[in-house]
Amino acid sequence: MTPLAPSGSVNDILDSVIAKLIDATGADAALVRLVDRERGEFIVPVHKGFPQSFVEATKFKGSGSAVEVAFRTGEPIIAADIASDPRIKGKEQLRVGFHSCAFLPLKVHGATRGIVHLAARQVGYFTADKAAGLLAIAHQMGIAIENLEMFDAARSAKESLESTNRKLDQQTQDLLRSNAELEQFAYVASHDLQEPLRMVTGYTQLLVKRHRAQLNGNALEYCDFIVDGAKRMQGLIADLLTYSRVGTKGQPFAPVPAEEVVKRTLQTLAVAIEESAAQVSCDTLPTVVGDEGQLGQLMQNLIANGIKYRNGQAPEIHIGCVRQNDDWLFSVRDNGIGIDPQYAERIFILFQRLHTREEYDGTGIGLAICKKIVERHGGRIWVESEVGKGSEFFFTLPGMEVSDV
Ligand code: ADP
Repeated sequence: MTPLAPSGSVNDILDSVIAKLIDATGADAALVRLVDRERGEFIVPVHKGFPQSFVEATKFKGSGSAVEVAFRTGEPIIAADIASDPRIKGKEQLRVGFHSCAFLPLKVHGATRGIVHLAARQVGYFTADKAAGLLAIAHQMGIAIENLEMFDAARSAKESLESTNRKLDQQTQDLLRSNAELEQFAYVASHDLQEPLRMVTGYTQLLVKRHRAQLNGNALEYCDFIVDGAKRMQGLIADLLTYSRVGTKGQPFAPVPAEEVVKRTLQTLAVAIEESAAQVSCDTLPTVVGDEGQLGQLMQNLIANGIKYRNGQAPEIHIGCVRQNDDWLFSVRDNGIGIDPQYAERIFILFQRLHTREEYDGTGIGLAICKKIVERHGGRIWVESEVGKGSEFFFTLPGMEVSDV
């Protein structure tokens, strides 16, 4: 028999098999019974040469019938003469003109799944000495079904993988959209909140200036609180605006010489560096690919923190960079107060601070901005530190070839 390709359904396969069975064995009729594993009864998906009435009548084979025995034992039953063979009980085949028959177990994945039933009009057509050849044919049929099932399993696994991927893509799209909407909201809200806040500060200051005489001591103090609170809120809103701008107002990536970025940052921080007598050293830095303004902001936040969170001594800050596989690994190390490692992740969350405003001024947004900038560039940021022993902030940037941009 020619090999059966795993295409089409089991029924298609069986259809071509039955024709080939008759061809190969010279039988006058053939049918395949498969056990319906859910209902535990036989179904006859294909047959040829048997009258339909016979097929219907033999669907339900009781205990002890040749079909049932061959199925249960997994052994073939070959009857040269149906009329005299005691294993063939009902003799219906005789009534429809068949005198010799073979029941061959159909094994798939080692288990009997059904029976191939061959019948011939001629007495003595199927004999025990033909068993090996007949079984080989049934065996090949089993392999064809096995292949088809494996092919079906592989196809459905592939389909389920594709559907999972589609769902994942959809979720990513949804997430990106809701993130963009949120950023847009934060941008609009923080932008629009500035104006009414300016009014609160402005008119409170005007009240104090023009009506100082009518305001008693307490009222003046309350006005100071209002202005102070409103100014703080202005600071927070301005930071929030900067934060939301990382995603909404970023510039396209271009080659950026990191050394230039650090040089400019140190100029911006010149006053703080001078006041604190900070020493800043720097490795030779590469040209990276990114948003120059944002990389400047990243460096500025990290270096400024190194100066701000000093430990009663002149800050010593070192900016390093090494190649790590496909990335650049930057580091900003200081000799400041350090961070308890249990807060190492929390400090990168918006508005999370480890100090009161009285201890160190700030809004707790600087490192959240750093994280957002690094992530927009496809990198990671983290800190390694010990309380009292200084901190080292690390971030990676993909080491793209500048010529790739
Ligand atoms: P801010 O400085 O406005 O509080 P950041 O987001 O820059 O906001 O920092 C969050 C917190 O992380 C700070 O409040 C501080 O406790 C801690 N931190 C940041 N940088 C350092 C540093 N170099 N040394 C010690 N602590 C730091």
